Amino acid sequence: MSLEAMRKDVVAAVDALSGELIQLSHAIHAEPELSLQEFKASARLADAVERHSLPVTREAFGMKTGFVAEFGEGPAVAILSEYDALPGIGHACGHNVIAAIGYGAAIALSKLSADLPGRVRYVGTPAEEAHGGKEVMARFGAFDGVDAAMMIHPSNMNLITMPTIAVADVEAVYHGKAAHASAMPFRGVNALDAVVTAYSAIAQLRQHIRNTERIHGIITDGGMAPNIVPERAASRFFIRAADIHDLHKLKKRVLACFEAGAIATGCRLELNWTGADYLDLKTNWPLAENFKRHAEGLGRSFFPVEQIPVGFAGSTDMGNVSHRVPSIHPMLAVAPPDIIIHNPEFTRWAASDSGDAAVLDGAKALALTALDLMADGTTLARVHSDFQATAELSRLAVSAVEGEHHHHTGCGCR
Ligand SMILES: [Zn+2]
Ligand SMILES: [Zn+2]
Repeated sequence: MSLEAMRKDVVAAVDALSGELIQLSHAIHAEPELSLQEFKASARLADAVERHSLPVTREAFGMKTGFVAEFGEGPAVAILSEYDALPGIGHACGHNVIAAIGYGAAIALSKLSADLPGRVRYVGTPAEEAHGGKEVMARFGAFDGVDAAMMIHPSNMNLITMPTIAVADVEAVYHGKAAHASAMPFRGVNALDAVVTAYSAIAQLRQHIRNTERIHGIITDGGMAPNIVPERAASRFFIRAADIHDLHKLKKRVLACFEAGAIATGCRLELNWTGADYLDLKTNWPLAENFKRHAEGLGRSFFPVEQIPVGFAGSTDMGNVSHRVPSIHPMLAVAPPDIIIHNPEFTRWAASDSGDAAVLDGAKALALTALDLMADGTTLARVHSDFQATAELSRLAVSAVEGEHHHHTGCGCR
């Protein structure tokens, strides 16, 4: 079977699946589940895969809400589906669209049956918004032996990559001593004061960091009543920097701010680093260009990456995959440019007609990109050599994440 014939078949397969894909996207959207709790979404996807007579392993690679389905022989491509949502604002990151795209691409490729020129490892990857599920799964071997990994994220514009920085997630808990706040304040040790001192110190620090760096947080516990000196108070912060090495330096400076709160008040400080740090995304450019050509063929035009302003960046645990195997994480528009991601308006767009259009375009473009990699040795060689050019830096980044001595409070294996 020629590559051109296979391309036609894969696109036709996505069209034939379109009703099922949109229904899946909407069903996941209607029942948002937080990181590590995506039991319904993962079961929905795994059940759907089984209905196409493909074997599924649930609770895969150390994650209770992860799964994997693998089929075919030859060059191997991991296709990923995320499906977690955000507290309070549901699918404001549109992971329902990611889920349906990954599923659609994998199932469409499976319809080539014996003609499929490679191997597909379709992986359900939970806990992206928190806990770094892909880092856990990577350590359990989820991406071992594949030639590339790919997924698509929804956005307010079409981009062949996502501008990203590394991130660490930390909860700082202070332990003081309760006392009557009026009768005997001198017997109390005020944990809220420790949080406020640390918050102020971090606010001061923020003027003196790079414009690629971010520190942002919330107070999660501020005491129980005004007439009780707070015995316990807590905050949660995200710390972000261009790469893992800058992140380690910035974490030390933030740690000093947390310690300042403890020293000033006499509280005991407890730091809980949640999950693993997220690495910056290493985009495989030959693969991204290949994706771009296919998406343009479907009528999409892309915003030039070089025009994205400095500092306009989020983070993803796909970063941790991208330093292990050649990866892409392009973005497809589901909303107009003035709609912001992680905002309730984006939640509505994620299940709109343009969200549905992105599901179909995304599934087609992803399947076509995977197909090229499997069928065309030249593309595969270019993808490998692009990855190898910075392989040593990637190895250092991965070992920096694996070498962290964090107190893990939540990963899928708990
Ligand atoms: Zn998000
Ligand atoms: Zn997201």
